[in-house]
Amino acid sequence: SKAVATADQASAAVRTPPRLSSPTKVIFPDIGATKKDVWDYYSAVVDHLLPEIAGRPLSIIRCPSGVERPCFFQKHHTAGLELVASVRLKEDSGVNAHYLVVEDEAALMELVQFNAIEFHPWGSHAAEPDIADRVVFDLDPGPDVPFAEVRKAAVDIRKLLEQLELESFLRVSGGKGLHVVVPLNPGCHWDLTKRFAHGFADALARAQPDRFLATATKSLRNKRIFVDYLRNGRGATAVASYSLRGRPGAPVALPLAWSELSKLKRADAFTIHEVPALLRRRRKHPWADIDRITQDLSRWSDVE
Ligand code: ATP
Ligand code: MN
Ligand code: MN
Repeated sequence: SKAVATADQASAAVRTPPRLSSPTKVIFPDIGATKKDVWDYYSAVVDHLLPEIAGRPLSIIRCPSGVERPCFFQKHHTAGLELVASVRLKEDSGVNAHYLVVEDEAALMELVQFNAIEFHPWGSHAAEPDIADRVVFDLDPGPDVPFAEVRKAAVDIRKLLEQLELESFLRVSGGKGLHVVVPLNPGCHWDLTKRFAHGFADALARAQPDRFLATATKSLRNKRIFVDYLRNGRGATAVASYSLRGRPGAPVALPLAWSELSKLKRADAFTIHEVPALLRRRRKHPWADIDRITQDLSRWSDVE
């Protein structure tokens, strides 16, 4: 049975396409970017963003009064959304809840109209929520870690993954760190996926305790990088590639080729203003092959 239901089938005939209201409302006060700028940004990147979020349970960060006023993280489908689909999923508490699912551009733009700034998908699809197809190692540097160390950490993690015959992909978070993303095809149950991610982070922290940490305690970070394996689990999310971030300068979570890493100065270097043009200039999209790769966790479960 298909788990995803379109939002309110009955009203399909009267659905209107999303329309932008309050276009001049300032969303990023530091750079003067308006709701129209956010709308235009998402319209420009929709062909890149949609494959990263379509069909997955999706959380959003909404900033109705701009990113310098309170924003909120929303997981559930709410009244008023006509174009966004929903999927009913059991939460940890055992209770069912309706999660947001975007299937097309109209749904994406409806969320933008509802002041969504950031998009955070699950690492699994609504139709198969227990099966992970993306592992995310989220590198969270402590306050005293130079960015060169974060770059080096990503390269080292890529090499260790290669030893497990796992190809990985790079993204700047648009915040402080880098994400190393491992596609799984066929997908893998979250139980095993989570065990892999945790085990990998633990092994790294044990081998090089001066560089890495595998516990979330912020006060322990300082000069170390937290290998945040907690993005991997049923219901966990990581920011989507091409999502804006509700942070100063309107940075973008952007996929990069590994060859682009050495000259990278910071993780929030790509912003709302330059990313659409940058995407048009790119001859090959750095993640073009991510969904064509066939690899799973069997190498790791052999050695574990
Ligand atoms: P940075 O590079 O600055 O670390 P990041 O996106 O990796 O940026 P993290 O704080 O490391 O940020 O990761 C937090 C992740 O946790 C978010 O990307 C989001 O998907 C998820 N998350 C879960 N619940 C929340 C919440 N209530 N508010 C914000 N994020 C949440
Ligand atoms: Mn992070
Ligand atoms: Mn994190």
